[in-house]
Amino acid sequence: MTDPNCIFCKIGRGEIASPKVYDDGVVFAIKDIHPRAPTHILLIPHAHVGALADAAPQEADAAARCVRAAAQVARDVGVTAGGFRLVVNQGLDAGQEVPHFHLHLLAGRRLGAMG
Ligand code: 5GP
Ligand code: ZN
Repeated sequence: MTDPNCIFCKIGRGEIASPKVYDDGVVFAIKDIHPRAPTHILLIPHAHVGALADAAPQEADAAARCVRAAAQVARDVGVTAGGFRLVVNQGLDAGQEVPHFHLHLLAGRRLGAMG
């Protein structure tokens, strides 16, 4: 369910201190340590979900719960009027650093073109 060596699993379990801005027991959210926008929050399933393309249905459901949580967090932090972007990095070409599925919630500035 969780990976003992994974940084996001450790944060989820509370082994590494990182204030959670949201936690519904399935998904938690933390501020990105290197924010790329005025609002940069990570939505992370407590369960260790690895490569999205290989995810079992239950894991994919946990990933989907991140989208629901992102909408709630966007409302909580007041960025729905200005808008926001949700990003998933998967694998090498996307520059994924942490191999535990997560959504980036970016907001607070004009985000420019993707790619
Ligand atoms: P990825 O490139 O895997 O999609 O994004 C991983 C993100 O996690 C990066 O934006 C990075 O700044 C963030 N990050 C990595 N380690 C930590 C950490 O220990 N705490 C927090 N809050 N963010 C982290
Ligand atoms: Zn993990």
